[in-house]
Amino acid sequence: MSETRECAVCWWVYDPALGDEDAAVPPGTPFEALPAEWRCPRCDAPRARFVRPRAEEEPPIEARVEALTLAYERILATRMAGLPIQNPRLRVEAVSFQPWGPGLFGVLVTPWSINAVILGDPDAEVPLHGHERELPSGRYTFFPQRLEGVGTIEIASLISPVLEMEDQAAAVATARAAAALMLAPPEAQAPPARTRRELFGFLRGRGDRDRDRDRGPA
Ligand code: FE
Repeated sequence: MSETRECAVCWWVYDPALGDEDAAVPPGTPFEALPAEWRCPRCDAPRARFVRPRAEEEPPIEARVEALTLAYERILATRMAGLPIQNPRLRVEAVSFQPWGPGLFGVLVTPWSINAVILGDPDAEVPLHGHERELPSGRYTFFPQRLEGVGTIEIASLISPVLEMEDQAAAVATARAAAALMLAPPEAQAPPARTRRELFGFLRGRGDRDRDRDRGPA
């Protein structure tokens, strides 16, 4: 299968099915078979400046988050099926996923946990054991996990189990607050949440307040 290549200077696309008539390259010539002296027909960049198209290298955020959600729904239907640590009011939902470094950061709600998740650069090596990652709010310990159809992700447990969550909306609100806190620079935080313990305590306090507010006056 022949792949297209893009000029990293001007984004002209070399399509092997078309070749490059002006340079006497016949249709059907794979990029690898182009003569060494071949250059970008638009900007004259050398052959070495051509790269795989971005779309092939970096799936869009939605596709990666969708794959993550599907992988956890499979876990829910198989390994976790019927285990009593689950909250039947909750389902798998990815919250606040956004670009972070070369990958994505977000929070994943499942019926048994709320976890911060790094979907890293697919080509990057991930340490095999727990390791610290520096987020704007501080350092957190993440653990690698291999997921079918996704690759290696990194997980920091925030709340587990989640049996006390009243409903999906409460879990998603907690996940959204956690993502915002973890990505906020320290000076923007009140109260500061620099450690998992502090973040966890803050989220617990917030959950209690939300419950009290939702109940209203007795
Ligand atoms: Fe070019």
